[in-house]
Amino acid sequence: MFPAKFAYAAPSSLQEALGMLDDPDAKIIAGGHSLLPLMKLRLAQPKLLVDIGRIPGLSYVRRENGVLAIGAMTTYRDIEQSSDVRSAAPVLADAVHEVGDPQVRAKGTLAGSLAHADPAGDLPAVALALGGAVRAVGSGGERDLDFDSFFVDMLTTALQEKEIIREVRLNVQPTGAGAAYQKFDQPASHYALTGICAVVSVSNGSISAARIGVTGVGPKAYRPTAVEQALVGKRVEEEAVKAAVQTVADGIDVQGDIHASPEYRAHLARVLTRRAVLEAAHKAR
Ligand SMILES: Cc1cc2nc3c(=O)[nH]c(=O)nc-3n(C[C@H](O)[C@H](O)[C@H](O)COP(=O)(O)OP(=O)(O)OC[C@H]3O[C@@H](n4cnc5c(N)ncnc54)[C@H](O)[C@@H]3O)c2cc1C
Repeated sequence: MFPAKFAYAAPSSLQEALGMLDDPDAKIIAGGHSLLPLMKLRLAQPKLLVDIGRIPGLSYVRRENGVLAIGAMTTYRDIEQSSDVRSAAPVLADAVHEVGDPQVRAKGTLAGSLAHADPAGDLPAVALALGGAVRAVGSGGERDLDFDSFFVDMLTTALQEKEIIREVRLNVQPTGAGAAYQKFDQPASHYALTGICAVVSVSNGSISAARIGVTGVGPKAYRPTAVEQALVGKRVEEEAVKAAVQTVADGIDVQGDIHASPEYRAHLARVLTRRAVLEAAHKAR
């Protein structure tokens, strides 16, 4: 299937790219692994693709004062291979390894995944569990958008039309905390039918803090804050954790499609949250 006709531009700076976004029919393209499939299905028909892949200096992973700073054109593969990611947030490398296949990981970017906000994308769950922000540039300058308010709805984020993510800023895993990503995937695409990322701290055999990111369940990734609170003080034991995570899909518009009914997705969310929390707790020191 071919996309509708479009023009292509390869700016050499973010400022030049921003100028091109004055055209209301222009769209940023990074790895192209979400945008091009949409264009082929005619679900998106931009008249101009602004390729930020030729802009120098947008591919890097840096560790800065408790934050992993990841440039907008950093691919999944770069992240998987980064020793900084492995030491500061190994759960990110683990989750990235679960994305699609080697071809997708060679081209797709973390920033593109967050900007796209696919309800079945893996990385929004990890971003919510680790915490942090995207650093975006727009005509008004630069600003940080906290992940907690970044994912607005299905395929919709708090980014303005004429804003470009320059950098993704993820908190490193807290000292001593454990983290895990548990995913039940759609076997053809490997997108998450449900994916749960948990970052858990343990003190004297009980959970002292938990942050959880959920993807694949509702129209957007979210944090089940009631579950996070319910886990605090619970012993790291199967039954106690199981009881605390039962409400993980409560109050969510759980999605159903040809792959899984809402009831099945809610069930997966409970099972995978229990597994992710227990795995993370066992990894915690
Ligand atoms: C076969 C296949 C399997 C896949 N399996 C999975 C999977 O298992 N799990 C998963 O999570 N994903 C999966 N994906 C999607 C993949 O992860 C995409 O690469 C990713 O979602 C988007 O990143 P990208 O760089 O390709 O973005 P693009 O496709 O280039 O862009 C996606 C959207 O984000 C916008 N955008 C991109 N970069 C920026 C930026 N810096 N600032 C502002 N807006 C930006 C674009 O305008 C566009 O709207 C799969 C894709 C394919 C084709």
